[in-house]
Amino acid sequence: MNIKINIQKITQNLPSGCQLVAVSKTKSAALIQEAYDAGQRHFGENKVQELVPKFETLPKDICWHMIGHLQSNKVKYIAPFVYLIHSIDSERLLAEVNKQAAKSNRVIPCLLQVHIAKEETKFGFSTDEVKAFIKSSNIATYDHVRISGLMGMATLTDDENQVREEFRTLRLAFYDLRNSTLPANAAMEILSMGMSGDYSLAVAEGSTMVRVGSALFGDRS
Ligand SMILES: *Cc1c(COP(=O)(O)O)cnc(C)c1O
Repeated sequence: MNIKINIQKITQNLPSGCQLVAVSKTKSAALIQEAYDAGQRHFGENKVQELVPKFETLPKDICWHMIGHLQSNKVKYIAPFVYLIHSIDSERLLAEVNKQAAKSNRVIPCLLQVHIAKEETKFGFSTDEVKAFIKSSNIATYDHVRISGLMGMATLTDDENQVREEFRTLRLAFYDLRNSTLPANAAMEILSMGMSGDYSLAVAEGSTMVRVGSALFGDRS
């Protein structure tokens, strides 16, 4: 695994304006440092208890993305520094991020997670729910969060048409919201979709942010 070469290969295939988030969950600080030394600054983690020590150990100009399911009682540990939370899946969680962000004197950018895959178990809003939620009058009262876009995960399948269709569903919801009147603290700027196995399809369907782990760092054990 040559992390530097992997980063270069993936970055070369991304259109300008599409951000690579290196998903470093389960990977050591030494490997993250290697990616950092190759120029990578955006990293994604899915567990608070792993994210916090990495934030403390590694260079302070890293932009840390929280990409996994987030429990309300753990928001306080990441609120002081997290760059973007991709996984807002309930109003309760958004309200807690707002509360903790206020304590840190921050406005935390957040994405709403949308359930586009066929599996029943994935977290997130449906496309109808997300549209209703973002336009609801409550949103504007959360003045320490900014809703910057949407995030979704496609079904893990070899069926490219299905994956493409799921990404397209998310992109259509994103553009639909982008063309409608939103609360002052919401704007559709980031469409986070695509992982190691499907980021090319996601990019073709309009992704502006891909979250790539194993294709960069190797398989996770
Ligand atoms: C682990 C993970 C990724 C990256 O997965 P790879 O297949 O290793 O690229 C992306 N997004 C989320 C939400 C993840 O949990």
